[in-house]
Amino acid sequence: MHEYSVVQQLIEKLLDEIKKRGAARVKEVRLRRGSTFAEGPIQQAFEIMSENTPLQDAQLIIEELAIEHRCRNCGFKQTLTPDDLIGHLYICPECGDSQEIDEAHGLQLLDVVFSET
Ligand SMILES: [Zn+2]
Repeated sequence: MHEYSVVQQLIEKLLDEIKKRGAARVKEVRLRRGSTFAEGPIQQAFEIMSENTPLQDAQLIIEELAIEHRCRNCGFKQTLTPDDLIGHLYICPECGDSQEIDEAHGLQLLDVVFSET
């Protein structure tokens, strides 16, 4: 589950930010996920990993960003979903060619609402 490691990095970054600001907790976290990331596992991972931290009761709002992929071999174009990938590997349904997908834009932090109380 690659969602877990990505969410873990995100949580570490947020906890760092909370410390820097001296905020008591976080009310809301707004994210944008690439369409190659399933929303369920992100929510789940966040819930588990934020337990007993200032992020515990934060509301997680997730927007979707459609990731378009064009096959390097045959030019077939589609919006990627988690079902189209095996790990980082994409198998083109048209020609069967397999390609590595760069998931650098997987999860993006848009906004965080801190609370002082
Ligand atoms: Zn193809």
